Amino acid sequence: MGYEFDVEGVIEKIKKFHAEVVGVQFPEGLKIHATRIARQIEDETGATVIISADPCYGACDAADTDMKDVVDLLVHFGHTALPIKYDIPVIFVETRSDMDVQGALSSAMKLLEGYKRIGLVTTAQHLYLLQDMKNFLEENGKEVVMHGGRGTQNGQILGCNFSSIKDLEADAFLYVGSGNFHTLGIKLFTDKPVVIADPYINEARDIDEFADRIMRIRFARIAKAMDAGSFGIIVSSKKGQSRMELAKVLKNMIHKEKKEAYILIMDDVSPELLTPFMDIDAFVMTACPRIAIDDANMYKKPLLTPQELEIVLGKRDWEDYMMDEIEH
Ligand code: SF4
Repeated sequence: MGYEFDVEGVIEKIKKFHAEVVGVQFPEGLKIHATRIARQIEDETGATVIISADPCYGACDAADTDMKDVVDLLVHFGHTALPIKYDIPVIFVETRSDMDVQGALSSAMKLLEGYKRIGLVTTAQHLYLLQDMKNFLEENGKEVVMHGGRGTQNGQILGCNFSSIKDLEADAFLYVGSGNFHTLGIKLFTDKPVVIADPYINEARDIDEFADRIMRIRFARIAKAMDAGSFGIIVSSKKGQSRMELAKVLKNMIHKEKKEAYILIMDDVSPELLTPFMDIDAFVMTACPRIAIDDANMYKKPLLTPQELEIVLGKRDWEDYMMDEIEH
C-alpha cells in the first residue's frame, strides 16, 4: 500500500508564501515519508524545513506543537482542515491512499442485499474515490445518499464528528475504511444496519457483533464507576480537542452529587500519566472521544465519556446512550 502526496503543489504554495522556515507534520503512519519530502521542499524552495516528531492524530492537533513559535508556515499531511482558528498559517495536504477498494466494495454488496438507499461514508484518505464508490453502488441498483457536515466534506466521517450521517434518509450505511470505531457511532446515531467495506483486508463485515461487544464493555465501565467517590476530568491542551467549558460543567455536576472532581490538563493522554493520581477512582475524557472507547483496555480505572458520566450520575438513561462528539 502506498500514499500519494501532491508535493509539487505544496512547493508552489510555500514559494508564494515566501516562507523561510517551514514545519511539516505527518500522522504516525506517514512519518516514514518525512525526510524525503523535507529534502524535496528544501531543495526546491530554499526554505529550512523542521519536521515535527511529536505524535499527530488529526487536524485537531495541527499547529499545536512547539513549532508554532519557530516556523512561518506549517504543512500538515493526511487530514482535512477543521473549522478552528490555527495559531499559524497551515496548509492541509490531501493524502490519497492507493489502496484498491473494489474488492471490499464487491463483498459489501451481499451484506447490503434488501436495502435500497445506502448512506455512504469514508475517511479522508479514500475521499477521492467517493464518486467511483457511488457509481459502483448505483450500477448495482442502489440509491446513494450522503452529505457533508461542519468540518467534514461530503461523505467524510471523523471519529469525533458524525454530522455527515445525521439526518440522512438511508435504509443502511456503508463505511469504507479500516477499523470499527466510526461504525459504532453510525450505529448508535442512526440505529440502522451498518456494513464496513475494509480495503485493508479486502473484505466486508457487518458490525453488530462488534457493537454488542463494545456496549457490554461500556456497560461494565459505567457500572464500576457507580461506586466512584472521586473523578478526574481530563482536558486536552490540543486546540482542536480542548473542551474546558464542558469540563467545568461536568465538575459542577459531580460536586452536586457530593463527590470529588478534579480537572487534569494534559497534551497526550496515556495510562502512565494517570498512574500518580491514585486517589482518583474514575476518569472522564473530554479530549479525543476515541480514547475512552478504543483504548479502554489500557486503563485499569474506568475512563468514561461525558455522556457515560451522565449515566453514572443518574442524569441520563442507559437507553439514551450516545457517542461523544466534539463541536469544532
Ligand atoms: S479529536 Fe480524535 S477523532 Fe477528532 S480529529 Fe482529533 S484525533 Fe481525530
